[in-house]
Amino acid sequence: MTEREEEQMIRDQFDKLLAACPRCQTEENKKLVTKAFELAHEAHKGMRRKSGEPYIIHPIEVARIAAEEIGLGTKGVVASILHDVVEDTDYTVEDLQNMFGEKIASIVAGLTKLEGIFDQSSSLQAENFRKLLLTMVEDVRVILIKLADRLHNMRTLNSMPERKRLKIAGETIYFYAPLAHRLGLYAIKSELEDLSLKYELPNIFNELSAKVKESEEKHTEFINNFKAPIEQRLNAEGYNFEVVGRHKSIYSIWSKMQKKDLPFDEIYDVLAIRVVFSPKIHLPEKTQCWAIYSMITDIYKPKPDRLRDWVSTPKANGYEALHSTVMGPNGKWVEIQIRTQRMDDIAERGFAAHWKYKGQKEKESELDKWLEMVKELLDNPDSDSLEFLDDFKLNLFASEIMIFTPKGDVKVLPTGATALDFAFDIHTDIGYKCIGAKVNFKLVPLSHTLKSGDQVEIITSEKQQPKYDWLNFVTTAKAKTRIKEAFKSERKDLIIKGEKILEKALHKKKLTINSRILRKIMTHHSISKRDELYFKLGKGSLKLENLAKILSIKSSNKWIRYWKLSLGMSGSDKDEKEEKERSKKKKLVLSDDNDKDQFTISECCNPIPGDDILAFADEDDKLILHSRKCPVAIKLMSSQGDRIVSAQWESHKILSYLALINLSGIDKMGIVSNITRVISEDQNVNMRSINIESHDGIFEGSIYLYIHNTEDLNNLIYNIMKTKGVHNVTRQERIKG
Ligand code: MN
Repeated sequence: MTEREEEQMIRDQFDKLLAACPRCQTEENKKLVTKAFELAHEAHKGMRRKSGEPYIIHPIEVARIAAEEIGLGTKGVVASILHDVVEDTDYTVEDLQNMFGEKIASIVAGLTKLEGIFDQSSSLQAENFRKLLLTMVEDVRVILIKLADRLHNMRTLNSMPERKRLKIAGETIYFYAPLAHRLGLYAIKSELEDLSLKYELPNIFNELSAKVKESEEKHTEFINNFKAPIEQRLNAEGYNFEVVGRHKSIYSIWSKMQKKDLPFDEIYDVLAIRVVFSPKIHLPEKTQCWAIYSMITDIYKPKPDRLRDWVSTPKANGYEALHSTVMGPNGKWVEIQIRTQRMDDIAERGFAAHWKYKGQKEKESELDKWLEMVKELLDNPDSDSLEFLDDFKLNLFASEIMIFTPKGDVKVLPTGATALDFAFDIHTDIGYKCIGAKVNFKLVPLSHTLKSGDQVEIITSEKQQPKYDWLNFVTTAKAKTRIKEAFKSERKDLIIKGEKILEKALHKKKLTINSRILRKIMTHHSISKRDELYFKLGKGSLKLENLAKILSIKSSNKWIRYWKLSLGMSGSDKDEKEEKERSKKKKLVLSDDNDKDQFTISECCNPIPGDDILAFADEDDKLILHSRKCPVAIKLMSSQGDRIVSAQWESHKILSYLALINLSGIDKMGIVSNITRVISEDQNVNMRSINIESHDGIFEGSIYLYIHNTEDLNNLIYNIMKTKGVHNVTRQERIKG
């Protein structure tokens, strides 16, 4: 492309952006947006992205997403165009303040603070997420633009080296997608999830995409037949509406397959449609939703327990709709969502769409409440960041239940919340003094799990003191944070006590505490933080047994040092060629030639050759292998992304790895010996142990095997499945705990 053609392409992109922003159309606003563009264009001149395209395309695209897909107005678009100017060029926040005013400058400043979060060489990411939330509470637009930025980066992730791709995809799935969900940005959330899956588990993603494509045609036909009578009826009633088939995202299919352990067909076959209508002016929206529900259920019978009413009480993220499941033709269940155009807008584009309907209904209060909760949590300045992130995340994705106070007020809590969570939700002091509750007028302990619709009265006593083990049965971030707070000083004492205990024990062996010794003990007990180890020792919940043996475990560092050297430490990130070179070297290729001491296989997911894997360098640069599906790995990717080393198995035929399979079936004479015969006849497998229990004619068991790779394992599973009486054989990835 010549320089002139490139310039033309940039101008075209900008025109597209302008056209995509309905709220930028006045002369004055157009001028402001154009001014921002000219400035950013000039400032980023000569800069290019990893893909080779001019840098300015990125802020233009981010602004387009902000306008078109999130629904932001002029200020948001201007701030999006300028979002990298302060970070990457010579312009300062003051410059922007002079040119664009206080508000826009402060949004860009907020975004700049967040920039660089993901390029740090330590585990500070969690702390930065916290900063991000703090900034968000000041102006939600900051986080909305950050999400647009992240979405564009995910859409263009292909040009990044794999190690970075994994890191960025990991953060996205762990933090950004839940956040988008919490802000009600459904479309963005699903796209972020799909893109993450695409880069984390490309094989699975491609396989599922192909299957979806294949089944689509069949579904379209069914949906058309299904919706015809509905359309007829709604037309007759004079409604202005649309009935659309609802596509399930690849990620949602995959995560359901994982969670429910079901094959693709059973998940994908659940069909779903959505009825979106423009309400008639003279009737309330709610009444009309129910009227349409009633018309549809005249045609198809509803499943009694599948009715969900988020019209009367919206979800905390503002979602409103009526959900039901009905029996369609051929006895097939079909999920139905009924929404007005306004509800649909809010469901797809979230809170930003509220602006469009401001005045019509004051629903923003729900989001305000949520932001208030975030603010409150953030007020606690010295809670541990990573822990905070975990607690906070719990609340991002949880589905919700509604609880009534004795006076009839409604509180929305995450599913699984207990009476104690409810107490803390009302007030911290009520939580601390809580001794029990009356749920629907019946006395229950404070650990009682609440159900949607419960009416709850908290019983307190002045004599009550907070207890540490309360942490075992609260789920809300608020309750967790408050309980931990109450024990902060006590915890500090126990940490000091624990350190002394360890010191003493080591002293007897003429040793002192050092990082190597600590790591060995922590690894042995699966503890990730030093304070946690001391705390447990101090509290007495952990005993120093087998210390000599734990310390004698040899950790080989020779190869790691070689690995570190071969990676090289220098090199500017801007230099693409070098980066490519480095990332190529950085790939850890595991073959039969490697010494097994060169890495550790994590016990949480126990990958074997053939699985998609990645490696983490721990504090001592020891490499730990995880399956890419492993939840622990996903968390590490997002919180300590710089320790990722991309890794891949080469073919494995010699070394063996431990794997575990579970099986069940009908108990028959000789079933155990039949199964063991299948295993012993297999040349590629060695059995370590087998454990089979039988009750009431059904057997269940597990077998530990030594195996070369997933292919051999799948063959074996297939062969065992053929054994008469065996009904189910699955691999269990988590071997311990
Ligand atoms: Mn950016």
